[in-house]
Amino acid sequence: MPLADALAAVPANKPHIAVIGAGAFGGWTALNLLRQGARVTLLDAWGPGNSRASSGGETRVIRATYGPDRVYVEMVARSLQLWRENETRWGLKLYRRTGALWMASQNDAYEKASLPLLREARLAVEELSSAEVRKRYPQINFEGVAWAIYEKDAGYLLARRACEGVLEGFLKEGGEYRQLSATPGAIKGREMQGLVLSDGSTLAADCYVFACGPWIGSLFPKLIGDRVQPTRQEIFFFGTPAGDPRFLEEQLPVWLDNGKEFFYGIPGSERRGFKLADDARGPSFDPTHGDRMPSLEGVRAARRYLEFRFPSG
Ligand SMILES: Cc1cc2nc3c(=O)[nH]c(=O)nc-3n(C[C@H](O)[C@H](O)[C@H](O)COP(=O)(O)OP(=O)(O)OC[C@H]3O[C@@H](n4cnc5c(N)ncnc54)[C@H](O)[C@@H]3O)c2cc1C
Repeated sequence: MPLADALAAVPANKPHIAVIGAGAFGGWTALNLLRQGARVTLLDAWGPGNSRASSGGETRVIRATYGPDRVYVEMVARSLQLWRENETRWGLKLYRRTGALWMASQNDAYEKASLPLLREARLAVEELSSAEVRKRYPQINFEGVAWAIYEKDAGYLLARRACEGVLEGFLKEGGEYRQLSATPGAIKGREMQGLVLSDGSTLAADCYVFACGPWIGSLFPKLIGDRVQPTRQEIFFFGTPAGDPRFLEEQLPVWLDNGKEFFYGIPGSERRGFKLADDARGPSFDPTHGDRMPSLEGVRAARRYLEFRFPSG
């Protein structure tokens, strides 16, 4: 049954929807379908925010500077509101509003396109000159930075814990969760003939939502195949100087540096260390079996950048 038809049938004829994948997308989809009145079974092979998943790990940045892409700005504004509402409902603190400092170079068309959309979405932003940022953040070397956007409501999310929080909320509201891998059944006519699960059982629902992130191409090789291509991106955590708060979130926001390369980072979150990542797309990556050892080139590039931009760290 198409999802729209299944939802149109709610609540008189409560449909059963199976959501496969409990990452950021699947977890929230399952919770929202449940809140709209469906019976929902959520499945995940390794669990919400597991270390293989895109939504795993310590933290994720939430910021709304997305150039001319209005859809992202609107989604970010809405996500900030949804996190606020659900954190209150669950009694959890998952989002850290540190603010975000976006550094622009002379080549600043992206940032110029962002500003009006940020303001239209009523997000609190400041446009900072290079002199202002130097004064405000003396722990950063702003060489090559022409100006900056400061997003006051931006920050970071505790990634794995947020996925767990969504699952706990889903269970409390009556959802069903099973930690199993699912394989799509045969498609006859326009209907899928249920799921085959890793414990040997099958699951039949009225409709199915596959929120399998980087696995989606291998689950549907003909339909999706390499339209979704997972790539590797390395992230690093560095220790900060003993007793020095300049690189912790009390004194430093999330930062993003849109220069020749694109590095971004999260100041020491919950004693985890100073996160730094290169946002460039890396080589293709197999999310199940791919080798996750840090590469020497990745470590060197991160250290080179760190020494340049944060010389006193
Ligand atoms: C290193 C990195 C840094 C990022 N940084 C940011 C950031 O700072 N800000 C930001 O907004 N975005 C960031 N992103 C992007 C963001 O994290 C992803 O867009 C998001 O997490 C994708 O979520 P998802 O639910 O689609 O996928 P996933 O989180 O990968 O979820 C898919 C789930 O499906 C499950 N699954 C797969 N196949 C099956 C199966 N056959 N049966 C059962 N379960 C299955 C998996 O176990 C997994 O839990 C980053 C991504 C990465 C990788």
